[in-house]
Amino acid sequence: MELLKGADSVSNIELLLIRKTQLHRKIQRDQEQIKDARLALGAIDREIYSKCIHYFTRDESAAHDDIYKRSCVKCGLYQNYNY
Ligand SMILES: [Zn+2]
Repeated sequence: MELLKGADSVSNIELLLIRKTQLHRKIQRDQEQIKDARLALGAIDREIYSKCIHYFTRDESAAHDDIYKRSCVKCGLYQNYNY
């Protein structure tokens, strides 16, 4: 009985190790997708910034020492951000 219990534990550990490997691969794939999505968002922001006829106003939520104080009411992008 003890031998069977031990064998079951090894089998369970092997399954857990396989599951860990699967989860590590999933994290890697998901991180690549997030990176791709961020790059796509950056490209969209650059295109919007170049095409929008901006109307910049003071961002009321900006603190006096915030770098970005003015945003466009049409597209929401900041005036002096490097897109
Ligand atoms: Zn704009």
